[in-house]
Amino acid sequence: MDSHTEHAAGETRAGTTDIDGFRANLRRWLDTTDLSPGPDNSLSGQVAQLARVRHALFEAGWMRYGWPEHVGGLGGPAALRAVLGEEVATRGLAEPGIYSMVEVLAPTMISYARPELAARMVPALLSGREQWCQGFSEPGSGSDLASLSTKAVAGGENWVISGQKVWTSLAQYAARCVLLTRTAPGHDGISAFFVDMDSPGITVRPLRTMHGVDEFAEVYFDDVVVPGDRMLGRPGDGWRVAMDLLPHERSTCFWHRIAYLFTRVDALIADTDLRDDAALGAAYLALHTVRCRSHATQRRLADGQRLGPETSIDKVLLATAEQQLFDTARDMLPGAIEFDDEQWRTEYLYSRAATIYGGTAEIQRNIIARRLLDLGRE
Ligand SMILES: Cc1cc2nc3c(=O)[nH]c(=O)nc-3n(C[C@H](O)[C@H](O)[C@H](O)COP(=O)(O)OP(=O)(O)OC[C@H]3O[C@@H](n4cnc5c(N)ncnc54)[C@H](O)[C@@H]3O)c2cc1C
Repeated sequence: MDSHTEHAAGETRAGTTDIDGFRANLRRWLDTTDLSPGPDNSLSGQVAQLARVRHALFEAGWMRYGWPEHVGGLGGPAALRAVLGEEVATRGLAEPGIYSMVEVLAPTMISYARPELAARMVPALLSGREQWCQGFSEPGSGSDLASLSTKAVAGGENWVISGQKVWTSLAQYAARCVLLTRTAPGHDGISAFFVDMDSPGITVRPLRTMHGVDEFAEVYFDDVVVPGDRMLGRPGDGWRVAMDLLPHERSTCFWHRIAYLFTRVDALIADTDLRDDAALGAAYLALHTVRCRSHATQRRLADGQRLGPETSIDKVLLATAEQQLFDTARDMLPGAIEFDDEQWRTEYLYSRAATIYGGTAEIQRNIIARRLLDLGRE
């Protein structure tokens, strides 16, 4: 750390639990530090920009607050991470979707990895040195995740993995993968690994989304040897890993996404010069609703509660609000989405994925019906 860094972190250390103080100091620092993105808005450009932003924030200490000290963090409540994400998103410093990956993957990795592995790896993610990916879905196992068939077979001190994953976001940029495999039949026969993506036998084939970006990939595992100490938890803990990770994917990472979507409401108002449109008001209200819900989730996390199936409500509200906003943009900007190849079009198309990634809208409603409302099976 240079002296500027120590100054920034030191200033904040005095008030790690003081969220308003943290935000004020962070804003001052961001106001005087140019992290604005360059002209390259391709996915590779966005990934490089994210690494640059994370690096600068880590070096100055901001990216380390809210993370435990034993993994390179500086402690303090997890809400500090939400404040940081909100500032990054509203200033347009990093693409909010790919910024989320830290919130999705790191908490569960910290809970299940051997302490020395987490201590070595988490700082690499936080500091932007590495990108990680999530290898859950398979060609025949998406909603029915427990039917996954990528096999891990014990061989001495190692495990040998073979099978295929699909829709693995950012796999082509990832140095590591949080991977679910099958080691025995049933839910208790799923085991999770933290796999180096440069291991011999891994092939990554990017797939193009309908918004024209190679955001996810097919990932093939052909007899990939993974050391036994890369297992997350114990053999058979994989389903628990998934049940701990998915609630983060369905809630905590939304705080900064919502903040970003509010900036798009402002942009829509600016682009249309309209101030009293009913549909826009409804879209704003939907966003405000999910922000209130997300606030409650952040509070539960701050109180030390474990996140679970109730995060499916956050996911339904977020996907609904996001699609409503971009539907409104489509209606208020005639032709922009249909004919112009620009930001509104890209975001409109990507908003369709909000009811798929992290578990589809139908599956979230099933979880809410069955596990929260006790309405029985679908
Ligand atoms: C942009 C994006 C990024 C993604 N990134 C990742 C990633 O990084 N890692 C990863 O592992 N996966 C990722 N995914 C995959 C995602 O998790 C799956 O697409 C999702 O879980 C759905 O699985 P599926 O595509 O196999 O659809 P299916 O499970 O085949 O579902 C097809 C349709 O049937 C419906 N359906 C299925 N079962 C039921 C049921 N019981 N009741 C009612 N309706 C049902 C679904 O809702 C859906 O409409 C990503 C997906 C997208 C779109």
